[in-house]
Amino acid sequence: ALMITDECINCDVCEPECPNQAIFLGPEIYEIDPNKCTECVGHFDEPQCVQVCPVACIPVNPAHVENQESLWAKYRRLQSNS
Ligand code: SF4
Repeated sequence: ALMITDECINCDVCEPECPNQAIFLGPEIYEIDPNKCTECVGHFDEPQCVQVCPVACIPVNPAHVENQESLWAKYRRLQSNS
């Protein structure tokens, strides 16, 4: 999963780009729910939030490093729940 760092300027552009609705406005800045973030696996070749973020503040979440296989498994789980 990806995460948003405290460099976020709350510009709002990433939230509508997320195909998993994983991005939400937290108490201070935008946040990413690691249980919903597939790093856009299953939807796009590149994470869409990373593409649009003007301040490049969306790295991989070091607490949720995942390989392609587990990201695909999460994608399938999210699809079956929707
Ligand atoms: Fe924050 Fe970047 Fe999202 Fe804008 S695009 S709200 S700066 S994380």
